[in-house]
Amino acid sequence: MKKLSVKEARLEGAIGAAAKIEGWVRTRRDSKAGFSFIEVNDGSCLGNLQVIAPVELADYESEIKHLTAGCSLTVTGEIVASAGGGQATELKADSVLVHGWAEPTTYPLQKKRHSLEKLREWAHLRPRTNAIGAVMRVRHRVSKSIHDFFHEDGFLYTHTPIITASDCEGAGEMFRVTTLDADKPPRDDKGAVDHTQDFFGRPAYLTVSGQLEGELYASALGKVYTFGPTFRAENSNTSRHLAEFWMVEPEVAFFELTDNIDLAERFLKRIVADVLRDCQEDLALFQQHIDKTVMERLEGLHNGSFTRLPYTEAVELLEGSGEPFEYPVQWGTDLQAEHERWLTEKHFAGPVVLTDYPASIKPFYMFVNEPDDQGRRTVRAMDVLVPGVGEIIGGSQREHRLDILEARMAEQGLNPADYWWYADLRRYGTVPHAGFGLGLERMVQYVTGMANIRDVIPFPRTPGSAEF
Ligand code: ATP
Ligand code: MG
Ligand code: MG
Ligand code: MG
Repeated sequence: MKKLSVKEARLEGAIGAAAKIEGWVRTRRDSKAGFSFIEVNDGSCLGNLQVIAPVELADYESEIKHLTAGCSLTVTGEIVASAGGGQATELKADSVLVHGWAEPTTYPLQKKRHSLEKLREWAHLRPRTNAIGAVMRVRHRVSKSIHDFFHEDGFLYTHTPIITASDCEGAGEMFRVTTLDADKPPRDDKGAVDHTQDFFGRPAYLTVSGQLEGELYASALGKVYTFGPTFRAENSNTSRHLAEFWMVEPEVAFFELTDNIDLAERFLKRIVADVLRDCQEDLALFQQHIDKTVMERLEGLHNGSFTRLPYTEAVELLEGSGEPFEYPVQWGTDLQAEHERWLTEKHFAGPVVLTDYPASIKPFYMFVNEPDDQGRRTVRAMDVLVPGVGEIIGGSQREHRLDILEARMAEQGLNPADYWWYADLRRYGTVPHAGFGLGLERMVQYVTGMANIRDVIPFPRTPGSAEF
């Protein structure tokens, strides 16, 4: 007898096999013809396995007849061709072992369908629903694609620190790390806790990006990527920001902005191709219940090419659009979600890569272009915007010229002493290099059509999120 997942047991090829399956009951229905139908799911796929349990089975009266949604069980029997439509196979049970009962008056996941928002209150049980189960399988597939893509392209997977002293983005969105050894915390002259001593005599924060450290490794090992948890004190309650998310950050030496954009485009297409090929059943669920445009969008991204547009031209388009935007567009300010939406959903109807943003709104590490004919300074930044989500990737060519880097740090009020190691790379064998960051959750939002980022991560960390 072989243990099969529900996914394996649902395949026509399994017919005739003696099998054991294990999972959780979704529904039970008793037939007058002398058996019960039990729908069992084990998370391996969206579909359930239909178990036929005849009344002759031991414990039929005492147990099987009382099974309800959420009970866990092991069933053995034979996989047979299904008599009814809707599935190829079913399991004719010869034994049913109940591991755990689920009190039907309190188990929240009964037949009634709950809103995604309501499900967030049961973060511990929601992976048992079709929608969240499907999202988590797709999230897994996307993660695997990310590793496959970089591995096959000759990148080295490296790990940058989670506890760090550098505020890479300079946006003041860092969480402080401190010790709970509160007995004798270092105190300043006024008696207040001295947080500059938090990490064994130094300040420490949770990383907002592994980029700066990634640059160090690219400057020795050529092509590297990090893929890890990232933290930002986003107190904004939007549908696309989390305080803890996962970011993929490739960084490549001897690379310029256009190489970087090519890489990002190839990368996104590869993920989408893998999901389209391997997640058909789950995608059909999203298409039907979550977002009717999912398939069209994914196929569009896969087959089309990305529009590339300098920020300055995007601003001109937006200014000339005649749209009644809530926030006016003005050269020198960052674009808002409504502007991104207009570009990707209305004007170009597809992915857009915006480049060459004003230097004044971007961090110190981006490569500075020659001033334009109006004397305005831009940097070699790139944001990849996609319909439905907006910014999915942010990246740039990095400033590899020491004098310009130091001038930019001074401009932004940074202390060069804090970045001596970063500047050293420009002192010793500096090279043009570039990289970007993709938010895993934004990518999963894009491929599933989920409107809220809280529904594509197992445990969303946001202001006011549930326990854990
Ligand atoms: P946004 O403009 O949406 O706030 P950002 O420009 O601050 O994003 P970057 O610093 O460019 O973000 O980070 C790279 C990528 O990481 C983003 O393009 C996005 O996909 C993802 N990302 C950034 N902040 C968050 C967050 N708070 N939650 C989830 N993903 C995020
Ligand atoms: Mg941000
Ligand atoms: Mg941004
Ligand atoms: Mg960005």
